[in-house]
Amino acid sequence: MSPFRSAFFFKSIASLADAPASVGEIAFVGRSNTGKSSALNTLTGSQLAFVSKTPGRTRLINFYALGSERFIVDLPGYGYARVPEATRASWEELLGGYLQTRAPLCGLALVMDVRHPLTELDQSMLGWFCPTGKPVHVLLTKADKLSRESAQKVLRRVEGEIGAFAPNASVQLFSSLKKSGLEEAQAVLLQWLDASAPRAVSVALGREPNENPRQDRGWRNKSPRAKRGNQPGAKCLKV
Ligand code: GDP
Repeated sequence: MSPFRSAFFFKSIASLADAPASVGEIAFVGRSNTGKSSALNTLTGSQLAFVSKTPGRTRLINFYALGSERFIVDLPGYGYARVPEATRASWEELLGGYLQTRAPLCGLALVMDVRHPLTELDQSMLGWFCPTGKPVHVLLTKADKLSRESAQKVLRRVEGEIGAFAPNASVQLFSSLKKSGLEEAQAVLLQWLDASAPRAVSVALGREPNENPRQDRGWRNKSPRAKRGNQPGAKCLKV
């Protein structure tokens, strides 16, 4: 059985210090209303992401356990019109810190509406994350809203353009409504989690997996530190 099917809500955090011990995790992020919750639910075959939509949790990072210290991590949707500056600042700090310093994070699933791909906010998100050198997989959701031909055109366009923002990215079409693209997405994400296995060995050997993030696979950022205002796109990210 796919490990995604056994996912269950583990915890919500408002501070990185509260993040659970982990040997591998995949984060989902995207503009509000792009279909991120639906994609998570489709992937896990349950109503998991309902939790992240409950009042009070929408600005938190939600961890869903896949068993054996592996997680799917639901990051708050961005693009809300107006939030108080203080809220925005603390949210940016939490999100930026998570994306840039979380060693067990294997890769980022970036959810975009196939009809509005690669918005400025998506580009900002990539600007935050890509210096880590970790992979990005783009789910172009609501593919059912376009004809097959139009959807393929968007796919090719995004594949062509994304390299400028994220050299280590793959892209696919996805529809929660039609349940299409599910196997392709699961295959990519499982591969990332499988590649995090050496960390599990580290844990078994009694070594803290986050001890030296530079030794982690794919970690190329020299200074994985979240400094507000010092990151590409940090200024233009609106929640
Ligand atoms: P989120 O805010 O990004 O978590 O988005 P939701 O998953 O809550 O979806 C926002 C809206 O888009 C809801 O009305 C969903 O029913 C709809 N939606 C989500 N995924 C799909 C899809 O694959 N196809 C279609 N047609 N609608 C979708």
